[in-house]
Amino acid sequence: MAPTMDTLVSLSKRRGFVFQSSEIYGGTGSCWDYGPLGVELKQNIKHAWWRDFVQSRADMVGLDASILMHPMVWKASGHLDKFTDPMVDCRECRLRFRADHVDELAWTHYCPATKGNKFTIPSGEACGHCGARRTLCPDCGKGELTPPRQFNLMFKTFMGPVEEDASVAYLRPETAQAMFVNFDNVLQSMRLKLPFGIGQAGRSFRNEITPGNFIFRTREFEQMEIEYFVNPHEKVDARPADEWWHDRWIEDCLAWFRRYGLQEENLRLREHAADELSHYSKRTVDIEFRYPIGWSELMGIANRTDFDLKQHSKFSGKSLTYFDDERKEHVVPFVVEPAMGVDRALLAFLTDAYREEEVRGEKRVVLRFHPELAPIQVAVLPLLKKREEIVKTALGIRADLAKRWRVVYDDTAAIGRLYRRQDEVGTPYCVTVDVQTVGDSGTAEAGDGRVTIRDRDSMQQIRVSVATLADVLGELLGGTPWETVAARFGPAPPPA
Ligand code: ATP
Repeated sequence: MAPTMDTLVSLSKRRGFVFQSSEIYGGTGSCWDYGPLGVELKQNIKHAWWRDFVQSRADMVGLDASILMHPMVWKASGHLDKFTDPMVDCRECRLRFRADHVDELAWTHYCPATKGNKFTIPSGEACGHCGARRTLCPDCGKGELTPPRQFNLMFKTFMGPVEEDASVAYLRPETAQAMFVNFDNVLQSMRLKLPFGIGQAGRSFRNEITPGNFIFRTREFEQMEIEYFVNPHEKVDARPADEWWHDRWIEDCLAWFRRYGLQEENLRLREHAADELSHYSKRTVDIEFRYPIGWSELMGIANRTDFDLKQHSKFSGKSLTYFDDERKEHVVPFVVEPAMGVDRALLAFLTDAYREEEVRGEKRVVLRFHPELAPIQVAVLPLLKKREEIVKTALGIRADLAKRWRVVYDDTAAIGRLYRRQDEVGTPYCVTVDVQTVGDSGTAEAGDGRVTIRDRDSMQQIRVSVATLADVLGELLGGTPWETVAARFGPAPPPA
């Protein structure tokens, strides 16, 4: 069963994934802090993205631009004039809503057919008693809503010590623009040929009217964006190059999510209707994920045409073209933009990984993270923390494995509970050191130098020698299925 948002929020807090920002002061509502395990998960997602889409591709390079940019960037890009959402206010309680989201909210209703009793009615539904539909404020159920007015989502600040109009600056609402304004720098310094792309991961800020749903919509978030430049005069498979590459990027991004474990049934594509397209877009397709709040945008892949390069060229007076050697002409490249939110990707991986299972009459919560994304890859556990030799061996193994992987040592509970704790944060493998491993000096019994590896998903165990432990873990964490590796070690002992 899919987890509710409350379940994920509470697990995240309890196990150190995500905390509410400034919680001891009552919190900020729309900001969240990634705790010790959350920061690992987030780094792993960003690292996998950077490696797969930037470092391992011959047609991609990276960029890390500043958040504050010249204010003209936002004039040229259209953000100053058009980066708005329609906002309505309640005349009674003064709460504000995004006009296009009001109907998606559950609404408060004082029903005249039941002497004014108060009901909370699910979004989009009519009152079961009087048949009324929502017309008033969904929150207080009493006030009328104002007509919508446009609200600009960019955060304003001032550069330098004087707060005057001339020093107004904006926190970037997307990372994309830095890749357009650096187009020529990157092209010349790296001597690139079309098609090529620039990738960037970093913070963006939007003064969202109604942030919420945990880390799904916040005012400060991270994005991983790619601007992929193609020659609009070229054809690929008899199709215009920009259209071909657009489809290709949609496939590549979908494949990426699947590769890191998102299940097919939780992913779908949504084509933007013509009246919904942004001012710069020829076609936009969203990859949607089935979040606890329902199907919602995980990322968008837009064909931005030559809009941005032309705009920046016009406003800066600098040529932003590419010289096509074959046709002997200057062209303004078209741009395909796969734009992903890191926080939304993290929420998708967390939702998808969450399972509640029953094991021997007890509930087991397990996060089935892909081993590359799991915050902890291996937990080294001593069976008895009172036996010095066991603890020493376990600590030695932890130190050794930590040179290659994300590894922890834990001796704060009995083994069964330690396994459950690791399951709950998605650690794919536990290594247990026991009496058999080290032997018993009291009875002069020699140890067998073997430890147990326990698999998170099947809960099966194998025993391997300490000398080969790193190699076996290397295979497992490198993607060899558990069954294949376990088959070499004979029948597995019963699950723990
Ligand atoms: P939405 O329609 O949900 O507001 P958008 O279409 O405006 O999103 P884009 O401008 O396409 O979003 O931004 C690219 C990606 O950045 C989104 O797909 C999402 O993953 C992420 N993103 C955008 N806004 C936010 C936000 N307020 N909080 C968290 N992530 C966001």
